[in-house]
Amino acid sequence: MPRSEIITIGTELLLGEIVDTNSAYIARTLRDAGVDVYRTSTVGDNIKRIAKAIKHGLKRAEIIITTGGLGPTVDDPTRDAVAKAMDVETEYLPELWEQIEARFRRFGRTPTENNRRQAYIPCSALPVENPVGTAPAFIYERGKSCVISLPGVPREMEHLLETVVMPYLRERYELKGLIKARILHTAGVGESQIDEIIGDLETLDNPTVGLAAHAGQVDVRITAKAESETAADEMIAELEAELYKRLGDSIYGTDAETLEAAGLDNLAEKDWTLVVLEAGLSGQLTQKLADAGGNFLGGEVLTCCPENVNLLAEANRLRQDKRADVCLSAALQPAGEKQNLFVTIISPVKQSELRFSYGGPPQMAPQWAVNLCLDLLRRLKPAS
Ligand code: ATP
Ligand code: MG
Repeated sequence: MPRSEIITIGTELLLGEIVDTNSAYIARTLRDAGVDVYRTSTVGDNIKRIAKAIKHGLKRAEIIITTGGLGPTVDDPTRDAVAKAMDVETEYLPELWEQIEARFRRFGRTPTENNRRQAYIPCSALPVENPVGTAPAFIYERGKSCVISLPGVPREMEHLLETVVMPYLRERYELKGLIKARILHTAGVGESQIDEIIGDLETLDNPTVGLAAHAGQVDVRITAKAESETAADEMIAELEAELYKRLGDSIYGTDAETLEAAGLDNLAEKDWTLVVLEAGLSGQLTQKLADAGGNFLGGEVLTCCPENVNLLAEANRLRQDKRADVCLSAALQPAGEKQNLFVTIISPVKQSELRFSYGGPPQMAPQWAVNLCLDLLRRLKPAS
């Protein structure tokens, strides 16, 4: 599998004036095509430093992709920097100039002398026409390695990556492998608990298993490298079955499935409608359920202190008002030494009053509480 590095170029990236989204986009695309990404870095608009970064990168990886610095101004350094890194001059390509002129003509404009700079690329580099912008890109090949310089504008970079660079890499490096990922979402169990149950699987090489904890919710990601999509799917399916066996109903969904949808689906199966009453959750519980739609009839957000509310009485009132089958009320105490969450659930078969305490970072408490409530809805049984 070839190795790659991504270098984003631009002083404004270093100064934090714009956020580097190009690296993540390219990294994901390369990953999906089975190219290992070993490093990403950002360099300012400085020819020497960019050349150095490229030279060093080529010692570790066969494929270097740069973005940015291909514009027409003096301080657009990438053409000269790649030439310097490869110890060559830049050369003027009349056909590139014609392409630039033609593009300007299509927009009823004429290029400036500055734009002529964009018709220079490192000697013997392969020019890459840019149909969605003015800055031509290029590929410099040396032995088994290559440096691919793409424009910084995300839309232009993405277009050239998809239409030119990926087909080029697939052919040149005979890329057959690909990487597929699947996420299993769990709720109701902590990260360390999950770690204990599936720790042995987290040390596997391929597929790999990794955990990402959110407030009140943990994601288990399976990533498989394989020669084909079918092979990757098979590897993932096998591991997924094992994870389901071990984690059981802690898993509420996969990939884009949400906890709120899982909660509402559970009620829909019983033909139950839902209302909620919340305090201290910034309206997030109501918002999430409303976004998921389905059999949610609405929510009420209380602004007064949870201690001063008779949750059960309020929940009963709301349930009757809205003629709902289920009412869940949740009140989170303001951040303090110990933050309690009081929950009542009234269903057609039962009413319960529950209390949970939270010990994590205070700013995450509402999200934790919302996920906990949604998980309770998901687990609500006809007789509970
Ligand atoms: P141009 O011809 O537009 O000057 P260029 O290749 O020189 O193209 P830059 O000048 O480096 O590209 O960047 C142009 C714009 O693209 C930036 O102002 C910024 O908005 C965006 N951009 C550049 N690099 C990145 C990046 N790594 N991530 C996200 N956006 C970027
Ligand atoms: Mg520029």
